[in-house]
Amino acid sequence: MTYQYWDKETETLPRGDLEAFQLSSLRAAVVRAFGSPFYAARLAEAGIGGPEDFRTQADLRRIPFTTKGDLRAAFPYGMLAVPKDEIIRLHASSGTTGVPTTIYFAKKDLERWSSYVARSIYSTGCTRSDVFQNMITYGLFTGGLGFHYGAEEVGMLVIPSGPGNTARQFRLMKDFGTTVVHATPSFLLHVQSKMEEEGVARSELALRKAFAGAEPYSEDTRRRIEKLLAVDVYNSYGLSEMNGPGVAFECQAKDGMHLWEDGYIAEIVDPDTLEVLPEGETGELVLTILCREATPILRYRTRDLTSFYTEVCPCGRTHRRIRRITGRTDDMLIINGVNVFPSQIEEVIMAMGEVGNNYLIVVEKDGALDRLTVKTEVGPDIFMDDARPLNALRERIRKTLQASISINPHVELHEPGALPVSEGKAKRVVDSRPKDV
Ligand code: ADP
Ligand code: ZN
Repeated sequence: MTYQYWDKETETLPRGDLEAFQLSSLRAAVVRAFGSPFYAARLAEAGIGGPEDFRTQADLRRIPFTTKGDLRAAFPYGMLAVPKDEIIRLHASSGTTGVPTTIYFAKKDLERWSSYVARSIYSTGCTRSDVFQNMITYGLFTGGLGFHYGAEEVGMLVIPSGPGNTARQFRLMKDFGTTVVHATPSFLLHVQSKMEEEGVARSELALRKAFAGAEPYSEDTRRRIEKLLAVDVYNSYGLSEMNGPGVAFECQAKDGMHLWEDGYIAEIVDPDTLEVLPEGETGELVLTILCREATPILRYRTRDLTSFYTEVCPCGRTHRRIRRITGRTDDMLIINGVNVFPSQIEEVIMAMGEVGNNYLIVVEKDGALDRLTVKTEVGPDIFMDDARPLNALRERIRKTLQASISINPHVELHEPGALPVSEGKAKRVVDSRPKDV
């Protein structure tokens, strides 16, 4: 395979040079951080006087972690490090886990962000000849405008369709010859399951690639989308605290996401002890942004669980790859004392061919115990009025799940299209148990 690079020199920078660049960028980021009320106090408290305290990469560990709670407490301007007149845009996180947080961008910050997204898009083999349909929510959410400007920078024709209305999505794809789409993996599966209903044949579409991100999904879900839609799917990772998309992205090798280390310093820590883990071990990703001036954020605890690859990627990029995010530390469900990540359930059901494209995990109280119900749609080839094969399928799902998560779930089968679909991030878990007080 021939690999293409947006900025070959930076993307293939020898590790030593890359780390030296990170250290000097970190010093500059610390100087800027002192300009924000939050970090002026936080860094002083930690006994950090200025950039001279950072002589090696390991000195980064002197900086205390920043959490989502810190960002909320500093709302609205406590993290701002430049005069208000210099900021020209704000974005907010989607608030999956509570009150949203706000990030501000100066003009140069937006230009840099676009260049990271452009680099990511280009690394998947796209060029200016591609037609890009951005089927993700625009607005405060970073996925819309973030990809929009990055794709324009590559020179693609950008169709700012946003999500929703699958009939209109198909019409746009046909009218303008869309070759690349971006969406959440759950929306991609939804679009695919509407194809037949909308009377669209795959041969009428010019689709080649899809970028899928913003929510966790398994390798089996990727394979499912690739098979059903006949496209190459690339994993895209980002979060609004770190700009949004363009933090880590799969290249043409489609095996792990290159985390752009000239823009971010990544650490993986044990979520309990907060100690930095040996390379290759799974833990919580902690990120420091080097490529944004208006809102510096140092050692941000993402809550996302992943690990570094220890091998070099065949594409030749020197920026380290992270593995698919398996979930957030705060996603974990404790069901009758057993720890379960929703991703474990997804992995089992999406690997089964008879299971359809959508599922929902329900946890509720049943007397003193917890009760787990996994609702899945069945594939289009399964008849809902034929009880025998349905019962057999239900039983097979139950047994396979039990073997994998050590909990005996109830399994409910639903017709294709019966379970709720979200236009943004999918809501996969409904937990109605009373919260501990
Ligand atoms: P919120 O934190 O409110 O959901 P964001 O829109 O900033 O706000 O979402 C960022 C989060 O989305 C990440 O921290 C991660 O948990 C999840 N996410 C984004 N991309 C991916 C991906 N490719 N795989 C798994 N999870 C992802
Ligand atoms: Zn690569």
